Amino acid sequence: MPTAAFSQALLDWFDRHGRKDLPWQRDPTPYRVWVSEIMLQQTQVAVVVPYFERFMARFPTLDDLAAAPADAVLALWSGLGYYARARHLHRAAVLIGERHGGTFPTELASVEALPGIGRSTAGAVLSLALGQRHPILDGNVKRVLARCFAVAGWPGQTAVQAELWRLAERLTPHDRVDAYNQAMMDLGATLCTRARPACDRCPVAPACVAERQGVQAQFPQSRPSKRLPERATLMILARNQEGAVLLERRPPTGIWGGLWSLPETAPERDPADWCRERTGAAPLRLEMHPPRRHTFSHFALAMRIAEIWTPSTVTDQAIAEVDRELWFSPGALAGLGLPAPVRSILADLAPPDPAPSPAQADPT
Ligand code: SF4
Repeated sequence: MPTAAFSQALLDWFDRHGRKDLPWQRDPTPYRVWVSEIMLQQTQVAVVVPYFERFMARFPTLDDLAAAPADAVLALWSGLGYYARARHLHRAAVLIGERHGGTFPTELASVEALPGIGRSTAGAVLSLALGQRHPILDGNVKRVLARCFAVAGWPGQTAVQAELWRLAERLTPHDRVDAYNQAMMDLGATLCTRARPACDRCPVAPACVAERQGVQAQFPQSRPSKRLPERATLMILARNQEGAVLLERRPPTGIWGGLWSLPETAPERDPADWCRERTGAAPLRLEMHPPRRHTFSHFALAMRIAEIWTPSTVTDQAIAEVDRELWFSPGALAGLGLPAPVRSILADLAPPDPAPSPAQADPT
């Protein structure tokens, strides 16, 4: 199938079946498309839609985002995961103010120079919002191209990636680039899915080598497998007599960077020791909960969880010399940027309403 026929078949299919009413497709400014593209990295459309709408209601313009505290951005991101995306988004908004007077840049190199924006995202924003001709290569497009042209190897390898970019560049038309790029993403998301692609309805099936040879499942090849290393930690859910919970702000970089989380200590440590060291008193009550596990892209975290009732009575105040440890009343938790596993621990272990008085609890 010649290049022009490939893009025409895709555009005809898009006109009939493509998604054209997603929130970011209405009024597709570079700012709105950029936020949607960042949210859509590693996250499905159905999950992203309500997050996008809340985000736009709170930060309708680039200026609003740049002026917001990082905490407010992280709070709206809570549950979407991959929090570096939110930190980069906020940082990039500030940089756009400094470098481009608050207007989203329109040159590919300037867009790519912003934090958290790679070549494909930059191309997607400029093509979808401004109609500029740039190829894209997100996960969905990689899958379509790898299958159509039987590109062997894992797309994370430099040579394989270069071959996919070469194909993407060659196939991208000069007209209707926005519709073409959206169509490629839609095709990968809706028909050329990872499992059981719907080749009988695919507009580019006549050009697809994998379909012709019945080897769709072999493309793209997976990352060479490697067992995830495991780390262990003891998370402390410390409560005080006011019903407040002690949280600690994570360092700005690394996992859950900048979010509020439960204090952690060595997994083998006695939680009562931790309590004595931090509060100067033994726990009024201590309860161990079933361990939990959370998988990150590069390791798994095994979490022991100790719930401790302490004699402390302060709320919303620093207990340590550093202000990264604070007692928060339960009502304040909803507005904080919390990692999803920590939010779920807090929700699952929330005391019944009204909360039992710690003084009535049995010390152990
Ligand atoms: S024919 Fe099948 S495998 Fe090939 S691009 Fe279309 S859906 Fe994907």
